[in-house]
Amino acid sequence: MNFYQNTITNLNKAAQTMKLDAETLAVLSHPQKTLMVSLPVRMDDGTLRVFEAYRVQHSELRGPFKGGIRYYPTVDLDEVKALATEMTFKCSVVGIPYGGGKGGVCCNPKEMSPGELERLTRRYVQAIYQIIGPRHDIPAPDVYTNSQIMAWFMDEYSRLVNEYQPGVVTGKPIEVGGSLGRDTATAQGGAYVLESYMAKKGLEVANTKVVVQGFGNAGRNAALILHKMGYTVVGLSDSKGGVYHADGIDPNEAAEHKDKKGVLEGLAKTTHCTNEQLIEKECDVLVLAAMENQVNKTNAKHIKAKIILELANGPTSAEADDYLFKKGVEVIPDILANAGGVTVSYFEWLQNREAYYWTLDEVQTKLNRVMLEALERVLHFQEKHHTSMREGAYMSAFDRLEKAMKLRGSGANLLCKVYK
Ligand code: NAD
Repeated sequence: MNFYQNTITNLNKAAQTMKLDAETLAVLSHPQKTLMVSLPVRMDDGTLRVFEAYRVQHSELRGPFKGGIRYYPTVDLDEVKALATEMTFKCSVVGIPYGGGKGGVCCNPKEMSPGELERLTRRYVQAIYQIIGPRHDIPAPDVYTNSQIMAWFMDEYSRLVNEYQPGVVTGKPIEVGGSLGRDTATAQGGAYVLESYMAKKGLEVANTKVVVQGFGNAGRNAALILHKMGYTVVGLSDSKGGVYHADGIDPNEAAEHKDKKGVLEGLAKTTHCTNEQLIEKECDVLVLAAMENQVNKTNAKHIKAKIILELANGPTSAEADDYLFKKGVEVIPDILANAGGVTVSYFEWLQNREAYYWTLDEVQTKLNRVMLEALERVLHFQEKHHTSMREGAYMSAFDRLEKAMKLRGSGANLLCKVYK
């Protein structure tokens, strides 16, 4: 099962449990629009390379399309479709007025110079700018894209439409219309949800051991925030592998080491392991903050954590999910756990529209409220249907999407009238 099939399986499961109207499921099982483009880019050595790129607009039932752009060597259409679909459900889970979309460029930013990355980004904007816009489709960062890439993106779009349009993209640097708190929002939102979940279950933060897979925007900030909250971080990893120490690692030291050496390997007082070994280590909470399909039917039985916090999109396969649910492992699903990122992207977009900027405290107070309300709704659906938190989250999202579709109409009736 690939990532897209996995996502559709999750939709179908929740739809069946809540006896969702078949038309809503049919509409939401297909992206509204899929654009594939080829981007010719001049490289520093004078050669021309052509990169494949995508923008998938899944649904605008509840508002403009919203979703990040991934630069990764293995990006393909199915992966972007899966991520776009997840965005529709994620925005619905947290009740922000957006639909879902996603973009991807098949490239390896680690092997490209800043100049090459800038030319690639501008070429991508030129290829898709007619289908995006601050009221239509608003991208953001994702794996291997960052605030600098968002700044180039905004600049190129503004140039093409001949006016300053900071609201076309979120995750920008503060100096060009970014929001305070956006850089840490994904991890912070997940931490708020975990904190509230632990309190509800009567679990103590002190002595709770955490392993974090991934040390980028989501994982690094999660490790730093959870450490500050009093959790004991015992394992960390990046794409080159993991580091582990049963008595605890200071993520501040790990961040310093990674900035200096480029890898986590070699961090003082830790032993090295592979990413596969890291997620099977002894811990209470496993934070998945790297890529999809990391916990699957092969390794699910070796997971020791009692709680999995999915900051990455799609890190647990549907088969592993079933197994973990039966085993009593609580998976706090991606469309809830990592929704803090898109929530603060929404705040950034609101600030751009008003040209009035909020304090960090305002951002975090509002984020906390959104995340906790979303958690309550998810738990309500989960308890009502005696199912997993993932199904609860999809049901919570479907509930809002179904109502929006009934109120707006699916479009199908209109088309019948036109062509009769
Ligand atoms: P990032 O580019 O900042 O970091 C990615 C991290 O994953 C890096 O530490 C990298 O070394 C590691 N990695 C890459 N390939 C790996 C592999 N094959 N195995 C193990 N580790 C690997 O990306 P990010 O923004 O932190 O995104 C991580 C995940 O979080 C993705 O699934 C993304 O879709 C999701 N997410 C991110 C945001 C956001 O705001 N950045 C929001 C929601 C969800």
